[in-house]
Amino acid sequence: MEVKVLGGAREVGRSAFLVRGNTTRILLDFGVLIHKTPAFPIHIQRKDVDAVLLSHAHLDHSGAIPLLFFTSGVKVYATDLTFDLTKLLIEDFLKVSGFYLPFEYIELINMMRNTININYNERFKVGEFEITFLEAGHIAGGASIIIENGGKRLLYTGDLNVHETQLLRGAVTEFGELDFVITESTYALTDHPPRKDVEREFVNFAKEVVERGGTLLVPAFAVGRSQEIACVLKSANFPYRIAMDGMALKVNDIHLNHPEYLRDPNLLRKSLEDIEFISSWSERRRIAKTPSVIISPAGMLGGGAAVFYNSEVAKNSKNAIAIVSYQVADTPGRTLLDKGLALVNGKLKKVKAEIKRFDFSSHSGRTDLFKMFEKIKGNPKIITIHGDERACVNFAEELKERFGLDAIAPKPGDTFIV
Ligand SMILES: [Zn+2]
Ligand SMILES: [Zn+2]
Repeated sequence: MEVKVLGGAREVGRSAFLVRGNTTRILLDFGVLIHKTPAFPIHIQRKDVDAVLLSHAHLDHSGAIPLLFFTSGVKVYATDLTFDLTKLLIEDFLKVSGFYLPFEYIELINMMRNTININYNERFKVGEFEITFLEAGHIAGGASIIIENGGKRLLYTGDLNVHETQLLRGAVTEFGELDFVITESTYALTDHPPRKDVEREFVNFAKEVVERGGTLLVPAFAVGRSQEIACVLKSANFPYRIAMDGMALKVNDIHLNHPEYLRDPNLLRKSLEDIEFISSWSERRRIAKTPSVIISPAGMLGGGAAVFYNSEVAKNSKNAIAIVSYQVADTPGRTLLDKGLALVNGKLKKVKAEIKRFDFSSHSGRTDLFKMFEKIKGNPKIITIHGDERACVNFAEELKERFGLDAIAPKPGDTFIV
């Protein structure tokens, strides 16, 4: 097999890897780099691809797939839940960034007509390749992917989290003998604090804010993080009002339609029973002034109802904002976190509300990643991707030093023989 890196090299975004055998050519993910203007992987012609294997719904893995559907299109393989979430995310992407996108809704529809649902742990064939999806723990429906061909085995980790969370089971990391690994490196340099501590601190903070008569805004990604926060509050028997708004509500329903992907579907169901769903501006104005917790996308405050809540909650020192999602540089969420500034009545102003960050990551941390490679069987060549430059380069160097593995942080366009 030959692996060509089309994107996701020394960056988090536009993950895309072309795997070629003698007769079969498949893409592992085909994502976008979310920026002011979205950026795409290295160009590839539709005729040079036989199929796409999609690890999970996030746009940095799925957002460029409609580009392959201008004419006939290819088959796309993923879990059924991944397809439901991908459709929702790309629809929203078209709404928010449509002006910058080289495809339209019709290409998304074509793509959704060419989906093939895959279950975890079921081996299937695409051309000469035998493929298995393994549960990845990162978001619901997400997978790591194993490709076998001619006696060689390749692992693509996708994005993964080995620890179980309130919402999800942890990743499966029994990969067997491997010859080649494409590994995510997001937190190769950083460990996360113990999850239980983060949960406890978050719930205590939420109580404190409501008890002093304040409103706590929790800007959260619609997919996964909003539901996780709801479950964290429920499992701690949080006694006060909780509201949820925006695209998270659709994602709730999608999750509940696929309970088999959840660690404890009843926990999510019960969490949501207690929550007020907000859908009108009068409700929004009311709840923003009510002592409560408001969970609302967008997680980086780039859009959605969270923008309104943020401008309201920011005005009063009794209130608070809990940052529970990763904040990319140059986003309103990053500005809030680093400088304490937010848009209030159209002007960038110092925020009076308390701002606190909680590390609810859905990626394996540094120690977990090294533990995973300690366990790995065989003597695989490794490429480190899906991390910033330092993370990818250092991770590869450390894998070489610690385990004597042939590891490298590739550049876009690099090819490797398996
Ligand atoms: Zn992801
Ligand atoms: Zn990703």
